[in-house]
Amino acid sequence: MTKQNNHFETNAVRTQTEKTQFSEHSTPLYLTSGFVFEDAEEMRAAFAEEKERNLYSRFSNPNTTEFVDKICKLEGAEDGYAFATGMAAVFSTFAALLNAGDHIVSARSVFGSTHTLFTKYFPKWNIETSYFKVDEVEKIESLIRPSTKIIYAESPTNPGVDVLDLELLGEIAKKHDLLLVIDNCFATPYLQNPITFGADLVIHSATKLIDGQGRVLGGVTVGKKELIREIYLFSRNTGPALSSFNAWVLSKSLETLAVRVDRHCENALKLASFLEAHPKVNWVKYPFLKSHPQYEVAKKQMKLGGNIVAFEVKGGVEAGKTFFDSIKMCSLSANLGDTRTIVTHPASTTHSKLVDKDKQAVGITNGMVRCSVGLEHIEDIIKDIDQALKSI
Ligand SMILES: *Cc1c(COP(=O)(O)O)cnc(C)c1O
Repeated sequence: MTKQNNHFETNAVRTQTEKTQFSEHSTPLYLTSGFVFEDAEEMRAAFAEEKERNLYSRFSNPNTTEFVDKICKLEGAEDGYAFATGMAAVFSTFAALLNAGDHIVSARSVFGSTHTLFTKYFPKWNIETSYFKVDEVEKIESLIRPSTKIIYAESPTNPGVDVLDLELLGEIAKKHDLLLVIDNCFATPYLQNPITFGADLVIHSATKLIDGQGRVLGGVTVGKKELIREIYLFSRNTGPALSSFNAWVLSKSLETLAVRVDRHCENALKLASFLEAHPKVNWVKYPFLKSHPQYEVAKKQMKLGGNIVAFEVKGGVEAGKTFFDSIKMCSLSANLGDTRTIVTHPASTTHSKLVDKDKQAVGITNGMVRCSVGLEHIEDIIKDIDQALKSI
């Protein structure tokens, strides 16, 4: 068979690198910690990396390899490494590439645990981080120092759903010879490919829309081969590897990513439009609503607007509490990107470790709700949220 150039959906279904002599149609699960060698010479050659092969599942496993191959294909990346969680991917990427004394320039609004890495742990190794506000990308250049190594951002951001101009970030990184690392979790490889805008590395928490069904944790970093090599060496020695079972689940999940995300986005846009006209709502933020401050940028770099809608209920903390207590169907949970619609209160949960000043800086107010719109019928999602708003 000769290879043909295929579309995203086809690559997501058809990228299959691992098969046994039984020619199974669906990739089997390789539950094995180690792999055996024929003789001393084969073992020596494997450890010397003269031949690509599996040695030990902390290094690689057929299931994790297939999952990484798929993500690389879908992101347009050269190589990658799969992690047990999204945070393992974030931490290992920085830890592998930075030295004591290096400096990071990051968007102010990042995932709560990433923020904790920057503020609590990296300073222990003398790695400092400077921040730019999501609507002040032009300020980045004034933050760059001789020791700066990495520009880091999420887009859209968690939980503020702000959008950063990836093309502009790519230009700045290139001009100053810095690495651009993008957490592409909210967009998934289906909606946006940061590498096409100049990113050197792309990180995903596969726990979210990539699994899409709230079952397993996982993470992955993909990008330039020589950078992935460093990340791989760091990881094979420190041990944050993805389990083969989770990799097997995640590879299957990718086969339905496009159809799921299409419906997630369709439902999210309908909910966002409904909330925009709701008398109990102060504001709504969704990348594909015309009222979103970075609507034009979102349209330029994203296929659809994603599944996360942020909004603020009128009446502050008390109203927020009544809203959450009145929800009947949606789940009160901290996860996102599940088939089930989830409502979260970032101020008291995912971002509770931030002091008030930092919460404000990343756009989190006490009445803010983050809604991960699921795959239930949109009329039922709207009905539940509407009755909870009316109870305020
Ligand atoms: C959830 C999340 C992470 C962390 O992923 P885990 O799999 O929970 O470790 C990182 N970045 C973003 C944007 C996330 O939403």
